[in-house]
Amino acid sequence: MSRRPYVVGNWKMHKTVAESEAFVQALLPRVAAAGGVDFGVCPPFLSLQPVVDSARGSQLTVFAQNMHAADKGAFTGEVSAPMLADVDVHGVLLGHSERRQYFGETDEALREKVPKALDAGLVPMLCVGETGDERKGGRTEDVVAGQLRGGLEDVAAERLAEVVVAYEPVWAIGTGDTATPEQAQEAIAFIRGVLADLGADAEAVRILYGGSVKVDNLEELMALPDVDGALVGGASLEPEAFAEMVSIAERGA
Ligand code: PEP
Repeated sequence: MSRRPYVVGNWKMHKTVAESEAFVQALLPRVAAAGGVDFGVCPPFLSLQPVVDSARGSQLTVFAQNMHAADKGAFTGEVSAPMLADVDVHGVLLGHSERRQYFGETDEALREKVPKALDAGLVPMLCVGETGDERKGGRTEDVVAGQLRGGLEDVAAERLAEVVVAYEPVWAIGTGDTATPEQAQEAIAFIRGVLADLGADAEAVRILYGGSVKVDNLEELMALPDVDGALVGGASLEPEAFAEMVSIAERGA
């Protein structure tokens, strides 16, 4: 089965509203002719609606970086799935390692969040990945399988293919230390196997690699049979580089 490649830029806590809009204005002409590839960005909450509005009529999809599992309530500082859908946000990153590491994101919370995102019409992008110590200890597969089972347990099998998975080894995020093609392929093929065990049409699920992806290394990652694209942090902040990565993914499809 051929899966449509996806390149998604995670801006983390970068860009004001004006900077976000300027990015979209600079990006769109560079990707106007892109075909056979999906691409999106994950701006901070304040820039979501401005980016959605700036991107209207284009192929650019917009993801939030997090959401709460409840639709509404006394959860100061949080944003819900229906609120994101209300402003035409397309999807939401869930379980990014920085959320897990610094903000107490748990598999239990993700178990509620992933189905909630789907119910609201959002595309959940579930991030999984092991730390350096876990890899050195030979625990990569246990950790990743646990995160997948934890986050996806309450998603109906027939809806699993609507979830996008991002394999992001924590030791590769923001370090310049990309996984080797062998490591990325091995982990992502393993993830596809876990998804099949969960009852998914695993060949249909898009699984992205993330961790120090840049223009110079995306081509070899896209050539791997199970890698369907990239979740890009630092290298996604400049529209020229991001546009270049969209065309690399398009060529590698
Ligand atoms: C990320 O934040 O998801 C990420 C992969 O970051 P970077 O590309 O900067 O390693």
